[in-house]
Order: sequence, then C-alpha cells, then structure tokens
Amino acid sequence: MDDRVEVFFRGGVREHYDLVAVAEGVGSATRERLFPGENDPRWLDVTMGYLTIPKGNWDGDLCRIFTAGKGRSIWLRPDNKGTTRAILTVQKQADGDETLSRAQEIAFLRERFADVDWEAPRVLRGLEAADDLYFDVLRQVKMRAWSKGRVVLTGDAAWCATPIAGIGTTLAIVGAYILAGELSQSTDLQKALKRYERIMRPYVEKGQNVPKFAPKLLQPQTTLGVALQRAVLRVVDTPGVKQFATKQFISGADEFGLPAYDKIASQRGSPRMLHDLREINHGNFRISGVSPINPKGENINEEDRNSLR
Ligand SMILES: Cc1cc2nc3c(=O)[nH]c(=O)nc-3n(C[C@H](O)[C@H](O)[C@H](O)COP(=O)(O)OP(=O)(O)OC[C@H]3O[C@@H](n4cnc5c(N)ncnc54)[C@H](O)[C@@H]3O)c2cc1C
Repeated sequence: MDDRVEVFFRGGVREHYDLVAVAEGVGSATRERLFPGENDPRWLDVTMGYLTIPKGNWDGDLCRIFTAGKGRSIWLRPDNKGTTRAILTVQKQADGDETLSRAQEIAFLRERFADVDWEAPRVLRGLEAADDLYFDVLRQVKMRAWSKGRVVLTGDAAWCATPIAGIGTTLAIVGAYILAGELSQSTDLQKALKRYERIMRPYVEKGQNVPKFAPKLLQPQTTLGVALQRAVLRVVDTPGVKQFATKQFISGADEFGLPAYDKIASQRGSPRMLHDLREINHGNFRISGVSPINPKGENINEEDRNSLR
C-alpha cells in the first residue's frame, strides 16, 4: 500500500509525496491542522505594527527609538531603498489582538499612539498609505515534536523565536540545511527526521532564550521608568559595559557547529546551492545572533554578486 502523503490542492490537483515539509511561518494553518493543540506558545506580551513610510528629513543612517511611556515605543529605521521602516510597539498582555481585521489593527495603533508626539503623527499618517503593514502579537512556537509520520515542520512554523530574538532567519536557513542534509544521509526517513530534530533543538532553544523582561525594559510604563531607562542606557553605552549588556540580550546561538553534508553538495545541488553549501561547510558562513544591516551590501562577495545578476 502507498503510505506516502496525499495532498489535495485547492485548485483540484491531488499528489503524493514521500515527505511534506511545512514552512508556513509562525501562524501556520497546516501545523494547526496536522498537529492540533500541540503548539504551546510562549507569549512575549508585545503587540507590534511594522510598516514602510517615506523617508523624512531627520532620518539619517541610524535607527532612532522613542520610548513614549505606557509600554509604547516607536522605532524608525532608514532602509537601503530610500524609505524608512517604522515599528510601533506596545507592551501588553496578549488578549487576542492577533485575530484583529486589518481595519481593527490600524484603529488599534491609531488609538494607542494618538497622544504621542515626537514622530508619531508622521508614522500614523503613513499607516493610512502603507500597503505592507505587518501586525502581530509576538509569540514563540513551542512544539514537543517537529514531525509526525511523513510531515515535518521547519522554520518559524516549528520554532518561531520572534523578531526580538534577532535570529529567526538564521534558524530558518540552518533548519532547512540540516533537514536537507539529514535526508540526504539516510534512506530511513524517521531516523533522518529524528536526527534533524536532535541537532536543531539545542540551537533553537538557545535562540528562543529571550528574557520576557527585555520588552518590559525596552518599553517602560511610567514617566519615571522612561527616565530610568534613559539613565541606564547612558551607562550601558560606555565601552566594556556595552559588550557585556549586549551579550545578556542577544540570543546566544553563535557557537553552533554545522555538520558538513558533502553528499547534498556533490549530488543534488544546483550550481548556486553548491556554492552556498560549500560556504557553509567551509565555515565561511558566520552564524550570529545579530545580523548587522549593511545598506551598501558590502558583505556580498564578488562571486555572489555575479550569481545574483
Ligand atoms: C518585523 C519582523 C522583523 C524581523 N527581524 C528579524 C531580524 O532582524 N533577524 C532575524 O533573523 N529574523 C527576523 N525576523 C524573523 C524572521 O523574519 C523569521 O524568523 C523568518 O522569516 C522565518 O522564516 P520562515 O521561512 O520559517 O517563515 P516566513 O518567513 O514567515 O515564511 C513563511 C511563508 O509561507 C507562506 N505561507 C503560509 N501559509 C502558506 C500556505 N498554506 N501555502 C503556501 N504558502 C504559505 C507565507 O506567506 C510566507 O511567505 C523578523 C520578523 C519580523 C516579523
């Protein structure tokens, strides 16, 4: 009997697969259907709106953050496309904001930031025009197991660490690499899926190790809290203290040794994939909890640049 996974597509097509990998992100509907009730999310008590607005006169090269009290902050981060990324953050207990409609999301942010000055009016004006508003209530995905039979979860669908962790993209890429690598090493699917999980889980747990008090410190509730935060930041900004403080807040997942899977590189990869896998295998791919944004793209080497043309 064919024990492969039978997939029905909305368009009416029916297919069979040896393995289905679910990489649908934090709100994965397929995860909820195939692993019902198995996600025990860790809510970080942060609701966030993320959007692009036109670049303003005061937007230089650096990110500017304004703490407005009552658990609110505004981040303005100029990008390398001539626009500015704005983040509106509200520190509050999760109470269903993730189910709001788009109109309700905009109304929520408008209402919460109505009394804030600084650049709030500009960001709120941008809300009306933005076509890329990303609104979410931050929660980590916590699954006891990432596979069931011939279905496997990966990336945010399996272990979302949230944007606060600053390592979600790395985890997603490394997870895909290890899943592909383990599948290439074994003809026993269950064994490969178990090894994928065994290798990834410690790394994911490190990445998810975001202290819940971090958002509270970043978004104080009271005027006194805001004043204290500014005083502390002045101290933290001094050399020595800065390095120590950074270590406390970023996910410590940069000491992960990637297994080398020569087999996928030599047998299954496209030329582009071949190059990337070699980079990883030869240790040129730096795994880090923080990925500095380089507006000029200087960290792209010549070979990469050519292959992207
Ligand atoms: C505002 C914000 C800032 C972030 N900043 C950082 C950062 O600085 N550094 C960092 O490392 N990480 C950051 N992250 C986290 C990072 O974006 C994620 O961890 C990463 O994108 C996860 O990749 P993924 O492929 O697992 O999921 P996603 O990137 O969420 O991709 C899932 C994809 O699946 C699609 N999809 C869903 N359901 C279906 C379906 N049924 N059929 C077909 N397609 C479907 C979705 O539309 C989406 O395109 C940030 C996230 C956010 C929201």
